[in-house]
Amino acid sequence: TGDSSNDITPVRWFRINPLRCPDASAVMKELEKKFPQRVESWEGIVPGSIYHDEFIPYLFGIHPQDKITSHELYKQGRIIIQDRASCFPAHILNPTLEDKIIDACSAPGNKTTHVASYMFGNGLVDDVRIFAFEKDPERAKVLQKMIKVAGCSKQISVNVGDFTKLATPSKFPDVTGFIVDPSCSGSGIFGRKYIDSLNRQKKTQDIVDNGVPDEQEEMAEKENGNLQERLSKLSSFQFQVVKHAMSFPKAKRIVYSTCSIHAEENERVALDLLLDEKVKQWGWKIAKRESVIPQWPRRGFVSEFQEIFRDKTASECQEMADGCIRALPREDGGIGFFAICFERDI
Ligand code: SAM
Repeated sequence: TGDSSNDITPVRWFRINPLRCPDASAVMKELEKKFPQRVESWEGIVPGSIYHDEFIPYLFGIHPQDKITSHELYKQGRIIIQDRASCFPAHILNPTLEDKIIDACSAPGNKTTHVASYMFGNGLVDDVRIFAFEKDPERAKVLQKMIKVAGCSKQISVNVGDFTKLATPSKFPDVTGFIVDPSCSGSGIFGRKYIDSLNRQKKTQDIVDNGVPDEQEEMAEKENGNLQERLSKLSSFQFQVVKHAMSFPKAKRIVYSTCSIHAEENERVALDLLLDEKVKQWGWKIAKRESVIPQWPRRGFVSEFQEIFRDKTASECQEMADGCIRALPREDGGIGFFAICFERDI
């Protein structure tokens, strides 16, 4: 993420990084100088104004035209640009200094460094407490850089390789929590990145989202077939990554997220996990709404749960859907997103 005139995001979101500024109030004062007008909702943001987010602490929204990347606060890593919905996973995981966390799919490191801000916001420690995995060596370099800018190189180890092979429960017997944010279709992303991803997807998503003229129906059918095939490959990969995280003996909380709007990559991955014999044996359940940003109004699709769990009551299905969070692209002030938290008593 960064300032880009092609990016048509409704809001530019950024958060104060406590690891680089123990005195958040001093940063707030600087922000007040730059953005003198405070607005009460993100819909009210105009150039020069600022919105203090009501869901994520120390997260702010400004007008996309206001260039924040040239500001000293940004250059010094004291503020970090990150979409609001992308801040949900670390907030839901809510780790403390007692925890050891694995971020299974980390680059470029937005969520990794956000997790660090929850763990070390009140003071850095001298040992590694977060283990970040990234398969792509080039992206791992970006991750490394972001961790350095955020000021938590000592507390995070970067492991380059496939999380499902490199991270074994015997090597990490005491990990308590996971962020699992694997590759997805990116269908919730718009703006320049969305257009790039459309090109990569041969416009399949565009066809699905925007409808197609009659004469293109045949082509659309073919493209739609491609999309379905792609979603099914992605969802079985996503399932494997989360299931692997669930196999760690001391893990108590796992937050799974995507920037996809498709149920195939979201609720249905969760459903497949809940139906898996091993996952049942390990005791994993969907966390209750009260620990998953309860005030956020848009929750998971209840129909997905009702369709599969025919023996469960409507309220049981609602409870599972309530353990999920959804954000719609643009309509909710940023990218389209999905997050769910699994937890168990051990
Ligand atoms: N969590 C990141 C953030 O907030 O900045 C974004 C993660 S991005 C959606 C998914 C990342 O997972 C990509 O960088 C991809 O290279 C990496 N990845 C894909 N498969 C992986 C695997 N098996 N093990 C580790 N990383 C993987």
